[in-house]
Amino acid sequence: MPIDPAEPYDETNIFARILRGELPSDKVYEDGHVLAFNDIRPLAPTHILVIPRGPYVSWDDFSENASDEEICGLVRAVGRIARDAGLVAGGYRVLANIGFDAGQEVAHLHLHIFGGRPLGPMLAR
Ligand code: AMP
Repeated sequence: MPIDPAEPYDETNIFARILRGELPSDKVYEDGHVLAFNDIRPLAPTHILVIPRGPYVSWDDFSENASDEEICGLVRAVGRIARDAGLVAGGYRVLANIGFDAGQEVAHLHLHIFGGRPLGPMLAR
């Protein structure tokens, strides 16, 4: 069920628990700003989730309230993770779902990185 992106940050969400080490993840990268791990239900040969360490519900919250350093850290990390995964030559897609219409399921901002095969049209018609 989609989350309400207008709700305050919920410290019990599953990605907050992964960040605190309470739940495992298949980690591919971490630094002071982000954690990245493989999606548990991959939709492409490479399907990585990149999350900021800070408590941001969605892209809307992050883009308004995160520091320039946090925003820069996330953007640079996404590029580096895609390069390290060997996705640049073939191409890849970065996607964030925000709120109801996009079907956001987890109330902690996450960017999906998809790659490893032709990814088809941007949206189903
Ligand atoms: P979204 O629909 O953009 O909110 O995507 C949530 C994503 O989180 C989905 O692709 C899920 O497969 C993924 N997911 C949920 N729980 C976990 C988990 N414990 N570890 C890795 N990925 C997860």
